[in-house]
Amino acid sequence: MGQIRYYFALWASKAVYILLRLLKRNATMYPGFIALKICPDYLKRTKKSPNVLCVTGTNGKTTTTNMVADILSESGMKIVSNRYGSNINTGVATALTHSVNIFGKPKIDALVLEVDERFSRLILPFIKPDYLIVTNLFRDSIKRNAHPEYIFSILDTYVPKETKLILNADCLQSSQLLKDNARVYFGIDKLDTDVTECINLINDFSICPVCDSKLKFNYLRYHHIGNAYCPNCDFKSFDANYRLTNIDYDNKEITVEHNGKKDVYPMVNRALYNIYNELAAVSLMSEFGVDAEMVKDYMSKISVTQTRYNETKAGKTEVIRTMAKGQNSVSCSRTLDFVGNNEKGDRTVFIMIDDLFERRDSSEFMGWIYDADFEFLNVDGVKQIVLAGPRCFDYKLRLLIAGVSEDKILCEQDEFKAVDIMDKDIDKLYLLHDTSTYDLACKVEEKIKTVFSKAHSEKAGEQA
Ligand SMILES: [Zn+2]
Repeated sequence: MGQIRYYFALWASKAVYILLRLLKRNATMYPGFIALKICPDYLKRTKKSPNVLCVTGTNGKTTTTNMVADILSESGMKIVSNRYGSNINTGVATALTHSVNIFGKPKIDALVLEVDERFSRLILPFIKPDYLIVTNLFRDSIKRNAHPEYIFSILDTYVPKETKLILNADCLQSSQLLKDNARVYFGIDKLDTDVTECINLINDFSICPVCDSKLKFNYLRYHHIGNAYCPNCDFKSFDANYRLTNIDYDNKEITVEHNGKKDVYPMVNRALYNIYNELAAVSLMSEFGVDAEMVKDYMSKISVTQTRYNETKAGKTEVIRTMAKGQNSVSCSRTLDFVGNNEKGDRTVFIMIDDLFERRDSSEFMGWIYDADFEFLNVDGVKQIVLAGPRCFDYKLRLLIAGVSEDKILCEQDEFKAVDIMDKDIDKLYLLHDTSTYDLACKVEEKIKTVFSKAHSEKAGEQA
């Protein structure tokens, strides 16, 4: 009976997919939703592809999954990935529908899945991944994810024992997962920019998990990312099997050492969190047996997905559009660190992050902005900060608390009007948006291009 129900679910799922595509609707979630409605153990019953590779963690899942999927499909493998879809059980069920034919037989070489860390208990025990990358574990939306130890306990309980783990040696939290599983670690050697005392507002792993003493850091990169030891017992960070030994920003290359062999890879993106994502993908590809030369070749061609990062020109101004996830103080802090500390030159920061979509069931929670390091924008190079959208006043208060001078701040609820009245004589403009404001950010970016180009050519005309 169960098997009949499974086939009925599979066919219904495929039919719903075809129907939605005919209607030109997004078909990444609903086919899986239908499958699970008809057959609640759909994930368990679906015959698995020969290789199942998953990526989970708080930050960097999408970028890392996309890199892995791109490399494998370019290497000639037939893959299915949930890259444009949902990373919860319904999205994974949709991907499984695509991975088998109408008789339920696998028709691909590898399944590459991004898995939401909180939903992993509904997914990982049933699809039993061969490999699982855990990018990191941080504080995320308190409303959804509570605290990092809670997410840790989910993964520690529900990741199957036979799954080989690719873990971040520099993340004190996630590196402690499932000590009985086969594993390799990746990590980045000490950098010139590292410190020994945390400069972020949030460090969720400062106490030794064995004896409760305060940890000491050989080096600390951001939040709890770094290399630590306990002064009172033998707890310490794990050694990395894949060590990033050099970052060459001028030539856009990274050097990765594994088993005494050094390989130089093209740097996909210069933000440190994306270098971690690339290193995670490189480590998995090596474990999976993909030739390093092939990986290098593909890394030179691919870029971080445009929905996450994009560079363009508006007149003479360089416009960098980048994701800064709302509700996620660490992810947002990484972007603020990149824009405030990593980048150079005179720049404007245009912030349009709001989470009004969260209001459907209850009020959204803005407390996270007091966990995020807006202090990083309080630097000389940042000449103007434009706060746009319905939450602009919350951000203004946050920036004033961070010590930003009020005359640097432009606060305007209408995003398009903000473009009209902002300063246009600037070298670089960073447009920070959330997943929910991505489409709007693209429209604002178009307006910036038009308005800035016009302003710059008019100014050039006056001078001539
Ligand atoms: Zn200790």
